[in-house]
Amino acid sequence: MAVTKTASAENLDEKREHAAWVCDRLDDEYGTLQWRSHGEPLGALVMTILSQHTSDKNSERAYDNLREAFPTWDEVRVAETLEIADAIRSGGLANAKAPRIKNVLTEIHDKTGATHLEFLRPMPTEDAKRYLLSFHGVGPKTMACVLMFSLGRPVLPVDTHVFRVSHRLGLIEKRIGEAKAHDALESLIEPERVYAFHVHMIRHGRRICVAQKPRCGVCPLANRCDYYRAGGVMGDTAPTELPPVETRHGMSDTQIET
Ligand code: SF4
Repeated sequence: MAVTKTASAENLDEKREHAAWVCDRLDDEYGTLQWRSHGEPLGALVMTILSQHTSDKNSERAYDNLREAFPTWDEVRVAETLEIADAIRSGGLANAKAPRIKNVLTEIHDKTGATHLEFLRPMPTEDAKRYLLSFHGVGPKTMACVLMFSLGRPVLPVDTHVFRVSHRLGLIEKRIGEAKAHDALESLIEPERVYAFHVHMIRHGRRICVAQKPRCGVCPLANRCDYYRAGGVMGDTAPTELPPVETRHGMSDTQIET
C-alpha cells in the first residue's frame, strides 16, 4: 500500500530542501568551510559568556586577560568575583559576567569534583545537551556553542543574525522564540553543514541581511526569500566590508539571551 505523507511531513521536506539551497548559495558566496576545534569545552563555555553583548575583539581580549590572570579554571573558580570582573573588564558587562563565570565553574566542580568538561567528549550528543542545560545560566545558545565550536557536534547555535536571516528567508516563524528556534532550525540543516551554516549566516547577517534595511539588491538568497518577495524595506546595494570568516574563538556578538 502506498504511503502518503502528511501535510506537516511535506512541509518539513520543503523546508529542508530550502535550507539545503540556502547552504549551497552561502557556500558559493563565502566559500566552503570545514569545522576546526575552537578549544577545550570549558574554555568555549566561558568564551560564550564573555561574548554576550560585545564584539568578538572585546570578548577575545577579555578571555586572554582572564587566562593570563588565572592560568587554570580552578584558580578562576576560587577567585573573588571582583578579581574576575577586573580581569574581564575590557569585554564589557564585567560585573554581570564575572558572577556567571564563577557560578558555572563552581557548579561544575560541585557536580563533578573537577573543573573541566572533558567528560563531554565521549558523551552522546543528546545527553551532552541535557547535561549542559542542567547548569544554571546555560541556555540553548551557550550549550550549542560549546558542543559545536569545541566538539564539532551538529548542534546549531542561533544568535540574533541566524534568527533574523532564517526568519526572513521563511525557514522559521518569528513567533517560535529562541529556545524552539534552535531545535527547529537544527532539524532542517544536514549535520555536516551545521557549522558552515552558522558561520555563514552570521557573516551574511552582518554584511548583507543587516537588521535595518537589508541589502536585498545584492543578496544571493533573494530568489527564495519571503521578506524580499513580500517587498520588505530594503537598503542600498553596497555590502559592508567583508568581515573575517571566523574570529579566533568563532563566537558572534549576540543579542539573544542565553
Ligand atoms: S533577500 Fe534581503 S531579506 Fe532576504 S536574506 Fe537577502 S538581504 Fe535578507
